[in-house]
Amino acid sequence: MNFKFQSIIPELKKQIAKIVGEENVAQSQSQLLSYARDLWPKLTIELQAGKLPVFPHFIVWPKQTEEVQELVKLAHRNLIPIIPLGAGSGVCGGTVAISGGMTIDLKKMDRIREIDRKSLLLSAEAGVLGEVLERKLNQEGWTLGHFPSSIYCSTLGGWLATRSAGQASSKYGKIEDMVVSLEVVLPNGELLKTRTVPRSSTGPSLNHIFLGSEGTLGIITSATLRLWEYPKKRAFQGFMFPTLGQGLNAIRLMMQAELKPSVLRLYDPVDTFFSSQGTLEEKPKPKKPGLSSKRGVVKNIRKYLPYLYHPSLFNRAIQGFARHSKLILIFEGEPEIVELEQKQAKEICLKSGGLDLGEWPAKNWFKHRYRVSYTMSNAFDLGFFVDTIEVATLWDNLENLYYAMQSAISKQALVMAHFSHAYLQGCSIYFSIAGTGKTLEEKLLCYDKVWKSALDACIKEGGALSHHHGIGLLKAKWLELEQGGASPLLKALKSALDPNQIMNPGKLGI
Ligand SMILES: Cc1cc2nc3c(=O)[nH]c(=O)nc-3n(C[C@H](O)[C@H](O)[C@H](O)COP(=O)(O)OP(=O)(O)OC[C@H]3O[C@@H](n4cnc5c(N)ncnc54)[C@H](O)[C@@H]3O)c2cc1C
Repeated sequence: MNFKFQSIIPELKKQIAKIVGEENVAQSQSQLLSYARDLWPKLTIELQAGKLPVFPHFIVWPKQTEEVQELVKLAHRNLIPIIPLGAGSGVCGGTVAISGGMTIDLKKMDRIREIDRKSLLLSAEAGVLGEVLERKLNQEGWTLGHFPSSIYCSTLGGWLATRSAGQASSKYGKIEDMVVSLEVVLPNGELLKTRTVPRSSTGPSLNHIFLGSEGTLGIITSATLRLWEYPKKRAFQGFMFPTLGQGLNAIRLMMQAELKPSVLRLYDPVDTFFSSQGTLEEKPKPKKPGLSSKRGVVKNIRKYLPYLYHPSLFNRAIQGFARHSKLILIFEGEPEIVELEQKQAKEICLKSGGLDLGEWPAKNWFKHRYRVSYTMSNAFDLGFFVDTIEVATLWDNLENLYYAMQSAISKQALVMAHFSHAYLQGCSIYFSIAGTGKTLEEKLLCYDKVWKSALDACIKEGGALSHHHGIGLLKAKWLELEQGGASPLLKALKSALDPNQIMNPGKLGI
């Protein structure tokens, strides 16, 4: 789509200011630059290489739903692209203004509208930051149960628009399991409110059209979600398995016995090695970065930086001696149920060949669980890139997909993985990668090769392209391959809802 609104930009600015007030529209180059990208690592490498992303023309901060409606109507009339923005923590280029236009930042819409203590529901505006929301709920004895690692720098609207999954998803569910109703400004400016009821049989669920739509079908302005009582007890466990296969067997048995750990993370041998030196005799080391402290991983990789230039050899060497897989488990809720679940989990782990490490590995992880959000940029400063690739598949395909993707990535970058977000039917695999190149151009080439080989392998072996980070620009060209015959349906839906194609162009490949 060729957007031609450049000649009316000064007039548009006046009209936007009339809707939201002068102080809530910005056009300075520094502001446009800071809103031009999200946390897609490729854009960070490009910036290091001096390549600037496309800038939006305006950044706008509406304060209420009616203002969002007026802004969208203005854009609809004048064919201006709109990029909805939560906190910009997406890692797939979902907020890049590829055709310029108006970035609508929802962070000033951050009110908690209602807590319904009888029906256990929360109604909040889309721009509220995750950590702020959770802290307010905790003060009143509640929890949402949604804890993405990016909780300090992501919003409710962003979670809904990307189908986000939190660290405690095995107990509380993913964001789509929590939503009861939505308020959405459609691409023509009309307001859609879905009904707040426990369930309905009234045709296809409208909520699900907008969950994961990445700003391409409308702007989510508020949502009603399920609430949980803040857990009375939290219990921690850690196990070391002689092989990854034994660890996977244990977590499958646990899920299929319908245990509900809030946190379940099984590290492959390389991840176990990097985060805790891979020994069976670990002891608490309070002053050093411990299990899954990604600062520890970044620091460790720094030591091995020269080897990143020879990824195949490096991976083979580490895979050759790193053997064990570490599992951490957290159960929380009613004390009697927690104790019972812990006991059963322990039995399953010991029967599957696990060695009991006590509670400290999980306690240590819990203490550092959000640290990763603040350490990624260290890697780029040190001269290498890091990224994560999260996919999912059924239990009987899990090891096959893991080894196929590990082998594909190994040729380009250091690769390690953990398994979390487990289900009765299968599990997600979360690959962490680190790569480099002698020049920034080589680094970019390496980055693109990693993703191509990884996603080609994922499609070939029948995995889901993304478990929870979404598609954005990064994975758009693979989405059609994954969806096959369903792909025209998504395009038809887009044309029906957004005939002017103004909503977040290019994301999801539509
Ligand atoms: C260090 C780090 C850790 C992370 N950990 C996790 C994790 O544990 N789990 C997880 O799921 N993700 C994780 N992410 C990814 C990211 O935080 C999530 O995708 C998050 O949901 C994005 O929220 P946001 O508010 O920052 O959205 P943004 O990045 O601003 O936007 C993401 C997409 O949603 C659209 N969008 C945003 N708000 C709205 C709205 N109100 N209406 C319509 N569309 C909208 C945007 O246009 C864009 O396409 C992580 C990212 C980082 C950098």
